[in-house]
Formats: sequence, C-alpha cells, structure tokens
Amino acid sequence: MEALKEHSIPFTGLKDGQHRFDFVLGQEFFDAAHEEELTGGQAQVVVTLDKTPTLLVAGIHVEGTVATTCDRCNSSLDLPVTGEQQQIFQLHGEADPDDDEVVVLAPQEHSINLSHYIYECLRLALPARRVHPPGQCDPEVEAVLGHLAVDHAENLHVPDPRWDALKQLKNK
Ligand SMILES: [Zn+2]
Repeated sequence: MEALKEHSIPFTGLKDGQHRFDFVLGQEFFDAAHEEELTGGQAQVVVTLDKTPTLLVAGIHVEGTVATTCDRCNSSLDLPVTGEQQQIFQLHGEADPDDDEVVVLAPQEHSINLSHYIYECLRLALPARRVHPPGQCDPEVEAVLGHLAVDHAENLHVPDPRWDALKQLKNK
C-alpha cells in the first residue's frame, strides 16, 4: 500500500485528547494499494485519534463496499464491509521487542500515515469465504462447476488407491 498524502496526520500540533478525522476511499485508494485482493470500492473511514504525552491511539472504523474476486467463479464480487481496528503509536521511548502491536515513532517524526492501517482494516473485515449469493455466480463457470460436481459424485464409489497404500503402511 502506497502512503497517500491525505492519510497523513501531523500530530505534533495536536493537543492531548481526542481528535476525529474523516476520509472517503474511492478508486484512487484501491489503485494505490497495488493489491489483487481488493480491486475497487467505496468506503467511509472515521479515525478517532487519542493523544497522550506518550502515545497516539488510532481507532479506525471503515464502512462501505469493496470489489474483490469470487472464490467460486473467479469473477468480480462486490461485498459490503464494516471493520474496526486499533493501532497504537509510541511517541518516544524504547521499543519493546516482544510487542509488535505498537509502532515506535522516531524522535524526528512529526506525522503518521494511516493508508496502510486503513487498508489492513478493510482486508481484515472481509469474510474468509467470498462468494456470490447462490445462483449469482458467472453462469459459464457455474455450468462447468456443475459438471465437475457430478463427476466427483460418480468417482466416490471408486476406491481411492491412496487408502489402500495407507492401510498397508499401517499394517506394517
Ligand atoms: Zn461467483
């Protein structure tokens, strides 16, 4: 994910306390991601940034629709997504090597960029299995899948030679 300028938050000038930032994600965002997983979409992002003298806690909330690929027919699939993610930035001090959740900022840094974290939030909000609702897959692929399912059912009655090999191993 490319860091987009609009997702940069200069924090040095911010007072301690809560700050809200709103972003709208469009095609430009998904193009800058250079990822095949999400090819497009439209989403609203609300970032609540909590600043303390030592930490920045960014609460990221995304809501919208993303374009991805159907696991079943491989054609384009639009999915509604809602995601929630938290990212903690440490303003100074030593990095804890056991804690990879916290990003430690170098003393000269004065802004954070959230493009990567927003993308992660969207990606993690996707369901593990992404498929069209029943009957809405690409009809050509559906026809081929239908034939495959029939072939597979017929083959179930034929013993799989691997099972015999496995049985022989166990008997030794
Ligand atoms: Zn499909």
